[in-house]
Amino acid sequence: MSDQLKYFLEEGKMPKTWYNIAADLPKPMEPPLHPGTLKPIGPDDLAPLFPMALIGQEVSQDREIEIPDPVRNIYKQWRPSPLFRARNLEKFLDTPAKIYYKYEGVSPTGSHKPNTAVAQAFFNKEEGTKKITTETGAGQWGSSLAFACQIFGIELDVYMVKVSFEQKPYRKLIMQTYGARCVASPSNETESGKAILAKDPNNTGSLGIAISEAVEMAAKDPNTKYSLGSVLNHVLMHQTIVGNEALLQMEMADDYPDILVGCTGGGSNFSGLVLPFLGKKFRENKNTRVIACEPKSCPSLTKGKYVYDFGDTGRLTPLVKMHTLGSQFIPPATHSGGLRYHGMAPLVSHLKEIGAIEAQAFGQKECFEAGVSFARTEGIVPAPEATHAVKGAIAAAMECKKNGESKTILFNLCGHGHFDMKAYGDFFDNNLAEDKYDEVGVNKALEELPKIA
Ligand SMILES: *Cc1c(COP(=O)(O)O)cnc(C)c1O
Repeated sequence: MSDQLKYFLEEGKMPKTWYNIAADLPKPMEPPLHPGTLKPIGPDDLAPLFPMALIGQEVSQDREIEIPDPVRNIYKQWRPSPLFRARNLEKFLDTPAKIYYKYEGVSPTGSHKPNTAVAQAFFNKEEGTKKITTETGAGQWGSSLAFACQIFGIELDVYMVKVSFEQKPYRKLIMQTYGARCVASPSNETESGKAILAKDPNNTGSLGIAISEAVEMAAKDPNTKYSLGSVLNHVLMHQTIVGNEALLQMEMADDYPDILVGCTGGGSNFSGLVLPFLGKKFRENKNTRVIACEPKSCPSLTKGKYVYDFGDTGRLTPLVKMHTLGSQFIPPATHSGGLRYHGMAPLVSHLKEIGAIEAQAFGQKECFEAGVSFARTEGIVPAPEATHAVKGAIAAAMECKKNGESKTILFNLCGHGHFDMKAYGDFFDNNLAEDKYDEVGVNKALEELPKIA
């Protein structure tokens, strides 16, 4: 039997654990605060929204957390996901750098999101949850959770940002196909939605608003829990299956990345790839450069303030310390729906603050240009969000070319763009809006930050 065949057949090659970087952080994170008392929140505060197993993972200090067998068995449908060397892209760029990418578009819904959706649905089912509510931007998260809830027999209501609900009917239909109910947000089903619509009947929605609606519905009903597709520690941890596999695959390639790249909306696919490598950097003093790539129109890491803020527009969530553009800021509509979030995962923000990672912001045209180059050389059409990582990797490879350095670059190709071809159409027709960083809007939202001494 060839080694490749062995690799495919031997299930042990899929890592048995997720990686929890809390065990290796050189400096601990700041705790989330209760918005009323401003004291650190405890498990009881979160119990109405999440099953205890996930609350435990949120605060765990254990380095390795075992992936339950039922979750691994579902992962096996598409994991381990492939890691490729982008030789044609290297040739096209004429760079001495080696470029590798981990491809998460092979999952049933075409992105990394099922890695946590399946885990979250499993732990909810274990604790008797009957129904879950959630938000979704472009629909990647909603469709992934719909897939997972269907497997475990849990009902699902998805509050989908209205602009995407109207512009992206296919993902809504995928959710329906999996048996979930999808509602345009802001909706008339919740107090938070009604409050927004009363002020602005034509509001096209945002992730922050949709989160408020989903949280509100879960808080009202003891049989309903809430699920978030990014930002929280346990979500980022579930994604580390990506980096844990990549560590083994880079070993198989007899190589190790000097530079890691990922795109950041809430920070989960980026963390999934980079955290296991960062752990090695902390433990073994490895010299790995880690770059988070975000859109110029929603630049929380590069332009946001590192302060305590709400995770949602309706101010229902705990206060978390993160890079934020202000929870009242509504990012401009772009084709990268998954990157339109006012904040950033507290863990990713912390890593930036302690200098373990850096961040770069890119415009949507240069990102689509990179996406097209990638499709023409490597054959995979990246999701609009993923084009930010492609752009970041190309920029790093061009820097290597300028300096005559043959560094090894690894980036996360977190999803394919098959349901986002309208975005590519707009790019080809020269119809992409210029990147607008709404400085006035951000400053106004920052003035409304909660005041914390
Ligand atoms: C949701 C999504 C993102 C943004 O979320 P992160 O938590 O930052 O990963 C990026 N890319 C794709 C394909 C997505 O579906």
